[in-house]
Amino acid sequence: MKQAMSSTTTQTVAVIGAGVIGLSCALKLQSLLSQQDHPAVEVLLVSREWPTSIPGAPPTHTADYASMWAGAHVRPIPGTTPQLRREARWLKRTVAEFARQLEAEPWVGITRCQGVEFLDAPSPAYTRQTAASFEEESGIRGYRVLGRDEVPDGVELGFEYPSFCLNAPLYCANLLRRFLARGGRTLQRDLRSEWEVFSLRPQVKFVVNASGTGFGDTKCFPTRGQTVITNFTQATKTVTKHNRDGSFSFIIPRFFQGGTIMGGTKEPGNWRTDIVPATRQRMIRGGQSLAPYAVEEGAGSATTKAADGELQVIADVVGRRPTRDGGMRIQVEEEQLTGTDGELRTGHVLHAYGAGGRGYEISWGIAEEVAEIAASLLPSLLETRSKL
Ligand SMILES: Cc1cc2nc3c(=O)[nH]c(=O)nc-3n(C[C@H](O)[C@H](O)[C@H](O)COP(=O)(O)OP(=O)(O)OC[C@H]3O[C@@H](n4cnc5c(N)ncnc54)[C@H](O)[C@@H]3O)c2cc1C
Repeated sequence: MKQAMSSTTTQTVAVIGAGVIGLSCALKLQSLLSQQDHPAVEVLLVSREWPTSIPGAPPTHTADYASMWAGAHVRPIPGTTPQLRREARWLKRTVAEFARQLEAEPWVGITRCQGVEFLDAPSPAYTRQTAASFEEESGIRGYRVLGRDEVPDGVELGFEYPSFCLNAPLYCANLLRRFLARGGRTLQRDLRSEWEVFSLRPQVKFVVNASGTGFGDTKCFPTRGQTVITNFTQATKTVTKHNRDGSFSFIIPRFFQGGTIMGGTKEPGNWRTDIVPATRQRMIRGGQSLAPYAVEEGAGSATTKAADGELQVIADVVGRRPTRDGGMRIQVEEEQLTGTDGELRTGHVLHAYGAGGRGYEISWGIAEEVAEIAASLLPSLLETRSKL
């Protein structure tokens, strides 16, 4: 039930985290508030780090700010577990939203490009995959199994599909620009707790916790990723090779002058932030071997550039994917708090963290789910101003 608001104090809905999840959620909340006729409610983004980086130039970010270090491409994974099926639903919604954004704002940082995958030892879920099942799970039409002459030696299954690559820091910066242009507010803070946000403004009504790994959640852990950003800018496709030993190599073009990423590692529980030189060498060799498949047919000289001494590393990358056992936590929590006026009241936090290695490709599905939950809660939490 809405209550008439006596004071003129601004009401605040806050989001913790300026990663891809927090930014997407903040934008969705802005839309929701204007739909629910609450244009005067402030949306406040509170974060320790912000998207300002150009890899290779200062300032730089910590390894914990995963959104700055992502590839980031869309690479659907067969839905073989409840968690993967949940993520597939979010991915499908994100694919639709990326297509819409690309049309409306071609500069936002998203590029359509072909996704190519090579598997040395495909699991049954991959061998069973068809154009129809792929489209059903991802919303992407155009899956095609590659012929023997289109794949490297030793590859048992190769396929391609229309995908998207994002220039991760640029995309996040543009989401932040959009948020600010719509009247969003920002506050730089290193928070000790999600509940601390209720003390930052007099009338904080609702908080979304998109802090990546949450605050003290024992199910959360980092998954280390090491990559290199190179000058191999002729790549126009994103190519991933799943090796027989479980490791993988990839090339991800970072369009909009962002270089091309060669990678990579997925190391659950590894906290190391310095570069491992042997890994770096392995990734460069892996990237070079995939280079011929990442360029358009006939671009022979371009692959020479990747193969010979012209290849340069623009930046070494170590990032920590914010991973959580069981996948994303999307859940409302309530706690009794003392407000800035000294009165006891109930605070509501909606947790939205633990995206692991898929935060970009599932971002809009998550933001939509967060907005749906917020839509049901906000009418009882927000006060309407008295018309008298
Ligand atoms: C090498 C690598 C490659 C990847 N490739 C892909 C890919 O190809 N496709 C894909 O979809 N995903 C990819 N990812 C994963 C993706 O980057 C993450 O899933 C995503 O960035 C998570 O976003 P987030 O907003 O949840 O967290 P983050 O980006 O980590 O953002 C968390 C935010 O919360 C803030 N915060 C945290 N703690 C506090 C605190 N105490 N006080 C205040 N603020 C706080 C941080 O400052 C930050 O702004 C990759 C990741 C890595 C590292």
